[in-house]
Amino acid sequence: KRQVLYMGAKMKRLENRLKLVEPIVKAVESSKDVIYSYRMVPYKKYDYLSESVDRILGEGTYKEHIENPDYIYSIVHPDDLPLFLQKAEGNVNFDEALKYRILHKDGHYVWLEEFATPIYDEVGQLAAMHGIYRDISNDMVFRDELKNKLRKDSLTDLNNRLFFDELFERYNVMEDEAVALIICDIDKLKNINDSHGHEAGDRYIKDAAKLLKTFEAEDLYAARIGGDEFALFLVGQRVERLEHLLEDIQEKIALYQGEFQIEMSIGYAKVNQSIGNLGEIFKEADCSMYAQKNQRTGRDNLYVR
Ligand code: GH3
Ligand code: MG
Repeated sequence: KRQVLYMGAKMKRLENRLKLVEPIVKAVESSKDVIYSYRMVPYKKYDYLSESVDRILGEGTYKEHIENPDYIYSIVHPDDLPLFLQKAEGNVNFDEALKYRILHKDGHYVWLEEFATPIYDEVGQLAAMHGIYRDISNDMVFRDELKNKLRKDSLTDLNNRLFFDELFERYNVMEDEAVALIICDIDKLKNINDSHGHEAGDRYIKDAAKLLKTFEAEDLYAARIGGDEFALFLVGQRVERLEHLLEDIQEKIALYQGEFQIEMSIGYAKVNQSIGNLGEIFKEADCSMYAQKNQRTGRDNLYVR
């Protein structure tokens, strides 16, 4: 009889505990976040996975995960697979959120942010992983848009100086390619500003930018790098077209009909291997632009860079 009483009390305690846990389970299951507990030893298995994974990765994914604990590896974005494998080995910084892309049932990738906790057994072997992840695709799209906006010039919608500096850095430090640089500076913009007003000057800058933008291509970047100064940056095979491009620009300027006749001084330089050489060709292109400006404007512009 004592035994029965004891069992009864134990059941009661368990029931009370379950009651306490119930709202937590409900909260977990109604959340859009996915919580999981994944064991690796002695075999891989989900001890728990929120069914809400279907909401994030598409209908039927919950079942696939449960039936095949390796399923996740087949749908992670190839570029993020190394991170994923490192995580499975316990070789990532678990204090930081992990961000990676997973293929949705519909065929598009979803950005996930995960906080994972590795669980080790007595002998220090990684035995399980607990984690919580959520869909951050909207945040990532917003971040990309913001990143692009930061590299655009708001007046002309051309790439800006930050974009140019990063491009410069990329080919000066990391990627060795043939590179050509064309520098264009509007002639006597101050005169336009003084005689027609600053807004007219702005329109002039916009017209010049629009003209240069038409030359943009996959391996040809246009940027506004100063108030009235622009750069065209040619990479790889495109460098072979440098002379043609210079002619095309002159032709387009000559044919241009707008509020102002566009007048720009143009300098250029090129190099076969970009690493370590871009500072030099920037100076060279700038010098040749100033040389042309002196000729065109009949003034002696002091070279002060
Ligand atoms: P130069 O022929 O030697 O090139 O003379 P410049 O009058 O064009 O003057 P410079 O290139 O030395 O300097 C650029 C001038 O362009 C300075 C400033 O008055 C004007 N400027 C710079 N940024 C802007 C801008 O955003 N809007 C307008 N309206 N003017 C600008
Ligand atoms: Mg100028």
